[in-house]
Amino acid sequence: MLSMGDQEKHDVAIVGGGVSGLYAGWRILADARTRGKPVPRVTIYELGDRIGGRLQTWLPFGPDGGIRAELGGMRFLDNQQLLCTLLAELGFARQDFLPLHGHGPNLRLLLRGRGTALTTTTPTKRYKVSSSARDKQAADVLAEVITEVLGTEENRLVLKALIGKDCPADRREWDAVKAELTWHGRPLWDVGFWNLLSDVRNPETYQYLCDAFGYYSLAGNWNAAEAMEALHLDFTPGLHYLTLAEGMQALPDTIAEHLTRLGGSVEPGTRLAGFDVGADGRPSLKLVTGPSTRTTVADQLILALPRRSLELLAPTAAFDLPGDDGLRRLVQAVTPNPAFKLFLWYADRWWERRGITQGRSVSDLPIRQTYYFAPDGPVRHSAGLLMASYDDARAVDSWHGLCPTERELATGRDELHTAMRNFVQRHQLGGAAHDVPRPPPHLSLATEGMRRHATSQLARLHGVPEDHIPDADVGAFADWTPDPYGGGWNFWNVGVDVRTSMARIKQPLGPGTRVHVVGEAYSGLQGWIEGALTATEVTLQRHFGVRQPDWFPTGYYLGW
Ligand SMILES: Cc1cc2nc3c(=O)[nH]c(=O)nc-3n(C[C@H](O)[C@H](O)[C@H](O)COP(=O)(O)OP(=O)(O)OC[C@H]3O[C@@H](n4cnc5c(N)ncnc54)[C@H](O)[C@@H]3O)c2cc1C
Repeated sequence: MLSMGDQEKHDVAIVGGGVSGLYAGWRILADARTRGKPVPRVTIYELGDRIGGRLQTWLPFGPDGGIRAELGGMRFLDNQQLLCTLLAELGFARQDFLPLHGHGPNLRLLLRGRGTALTTTTPTKRYKVSSSARDKQAADVLAEVITEVLGTEENRLVLKALIGKDCPADRREWDAVKAELTWHGRPLWDVGFWNLLSDVRNPETYQYLCDAFGYYSLAGNWNAAEAMEALHLDFTPGLHYLTLAEGMQALPDTIAEHLTRLGGSVEPGTRLAGFDVGADGRPSLKLVTGPSTRTTVADQLILALPRRSLELLAPTAAFDLPGDDGLRRLVQAVTPNPAFKLFLWYADRWWERRGITQGRSVSDLPIRQTYYFAPDGPVRHSAGLLMASYDDARAVDSWHGLCPTERELATGRDELHTAMRNFVQRHQLGGAAHDVPRPPPHLSLATEGMRRHATSQLARLHGVPEDHIPDADVGAFADWTPDPYGGGWNFWNVGVDVRTSMARIKQPLGPGTRVHVVGEAYSGLQGWIEGALTATEVTLQRHFGVRQPDWFPTGYYLGW
């Protein structure tokens, strides 16, 4: 247990300098300013040497070089209204996320050892899929499964009674019905999505869906009611994906600038070791900066942290995860999903010779999804970036066997910086005066083994001998599995009453207490920035009395 003294004081202490923590601080300060209240003392503590959390961008060719390595979040949807209006308020211009709007005929789908065009339906022949899934794309099979589950007699009655239609059209309608939906007499939230898919079709159809969809975690055994909503609303064909030309990291950076202008402060390099609650109900935080430890007291504490970060806090009388079963069950109501990205930079965009300009290929090899990037900024050049692998869940394990040692990892960021500088100089990328910025904290030099395995899989994906795939000039990886993240995104577990858990996590120590958990992990849109923002906004309105500002999307449903 930690022993707590009483030194610094804050109105609001926020732990976690990801987008949710920064947004919380900025909104509290902006609300006070709008209402003519005194400036509250708001400080954000971030353990990393840089803010942004799971939004980290590297622009090695400079801001005009037009090739962004997005280590975490890279795109958003035009129907994610809180994020979209926030971006407009902060002065960002959005642009199309090209890889998901490119469906050229040469993008690849490699399943069970045979490659075809991404849009082909023939791979179902390589699986013993159910007859209804034959010759169909994975997204269409998924859509049919969702329709079938919603179409049972019991569910049709629920839908008619609660929303007056056959299928929920948006998040508000899904929230209205999902607790009442069933499958074979069991509440849908108590069924695993993997089990449901397998049940509705068959295990081989499930395998096809899993392989062809590109993400294992989405079709994993998470809460089926949540999974159906997520897949129905966020992963169906025809959605409009956007990104920021500056890179997604510009969002947390800009919020932080606004926050400091309003009198808030951000303290990178400071870790919350644990917190307790005093007799007056106020939280006291044990903070570690380098070798020194100090204690600070706050009127309110916002933990803008995912599950794994919460689990790493030292147990105290107030927050005792090992000893308090109810609290532990609440925090562990979600599961983090491993996520991994491997980036390969080339002087020459070799894939264009294979007829691929932009887009995404998919395979059942550990690389899973491959994204092709060309410069889209004002400076044109011949270099390109391949996000050779964007993979999750069990595929990440394959890369773990090829990871650098602890010692290599310690110097990996500097070596990557040097390697990229040499590459940029050699090919005169980014202009004469350009100096390559230091890589984000979460990026490290790829090992020889990673590059070799990736090259071999890329050759199979593109149906060419290995020596047709050139050696990458620079390789780097971002693995979101290690602490303090535990995974790239979190999903609600089977058997969790999500509505109740979302309400409780906003005040995990009980009604009227001064500790709050916000962010993506316990949101209604997990794996999205929009989820991090909406969960935070609901907490601020409900527990801090923060009012909606003028720029807020009118009538927008924020969820539970
Ligand atoms: C690979 C990947 C792909 C993604 N793709 C997309 C996408 O395309 N679109 C999209 O919208 N979203 C995407 N996401 C999700 C999106 O990035 C997250 O939803 C969002 O960034 C989460 O923000 P957050 O503030 O909730 O948490 P985080 O960003 O995780 O912030 C938590 C912060 O807390 C800090 N911290 C942890 N413990 C402590 C401690 N003890 N003391 C002090 N600080 C601490 C961490 O260092 C971190 O900065 C993706 C995520 C990943 C990893």
